[in-house]
Amino acid sequence: MLLKACLPIVYPFYRTFRRFSSAFRVNEKPSLRVLLYHGIAPNEVDLLKSQLKWLSKRWNFITPTHFEKVVSGRKFLKKDSLLVSFDDGFKSDFFVADKVLKPMNIKAIFFVITDFVEEERECQTLKFVRENLKLNPKESGLSDHLWSMNWEDLKKLRKMGHVIGAHTKSHKRLTQGLAKETLEVEIRDSAKVIEKKLGFKVQHFAFPFGDFASIGQDALQIASEHFDFVYSGLRGFNRDWGSAKILRRDSLTVHENVYTIGSFLEGACDLRYSSKAKLLDMHLAGKMGVKLL
Ligand SMILES: [Zn+2]
Repeated sequence: MLLKACLPIVYPFYRTFRRFSSAFRVNEKPSLRVLLYHGIAPNEVDLLKSQLKWLSKRWNFITPTHFEKVVSGRKFLKKDSLLVSFDDGFKSDFFVADKVLKPMNIKAIFFVITDFVEEERECQTLKFVRENLKLNPKESGLSDHLWSMNWEDLKKLRKMGHVIGAHTKSHKRLTQGLAKETLEVEIRDSAKVIEKKLGFKVQHFAFPFGDFASIGQDALQIASEHFDFVYSGLRGFNRDWGSAKILRRDSLTVHENVYTIGSFLEGACDLRYSSKAKLLDMHLAGKMGVKLL
């Protein structure tokens, strides 16, 4: 595994190596990766804008609809591509959609937590942000950008061409050992709430936290039965589409050096995640003997 401090330095080598090796491989498909952001504070908006602009020079941003077709094997990519996603449904993401994504014509998936969307009381929202999202706002009150988007915001995002995905009811870690009823409420029932409020079928689900330890076997089973597209937070290419797989995503912050991000997206750190992601894939492929956590 590469030390993170080395990632900006190795980026040009990784990029050249991948271009060079893919030129000699027959049937090599363009790469497909999914970016994972969370809330963006007001002082981070310009950083996000310049990060996305840098990425747009090297990768093609695809829409969630295009992504669905590629992952289902109904469409092929012509260029290395990225899908943008935001987890947790912070109010700041609505602002970002208008001020950053719209001018760049980027369509994203926003994964929302239904208890968070429905919470309107400040002290309860602050408690949720601290206890369920594991954030620690320094100030005593809640900053505007840390509120959740409401149902009206989500309707407007859909009108702008974005997609809303489910991210559970309360952002629990869906580990093995949780009662099946609890998992069903968190995974399936939360999507039903979104469907009832917004009037469409939810096809995308992202596991809270998204690391291997947060994806229990029963939870994975329920999620894969209910949704067409199930996302982890494990880094990796999504190029082997066509069979049941948990989708890989690259968790990013706007403070990351662009060359560090470039290295992530060229796969420099994938080895750290690949064996665990493959275990999840094997479970999804019906190899039930594969033991998850
Ligand atoms: Zn989350």
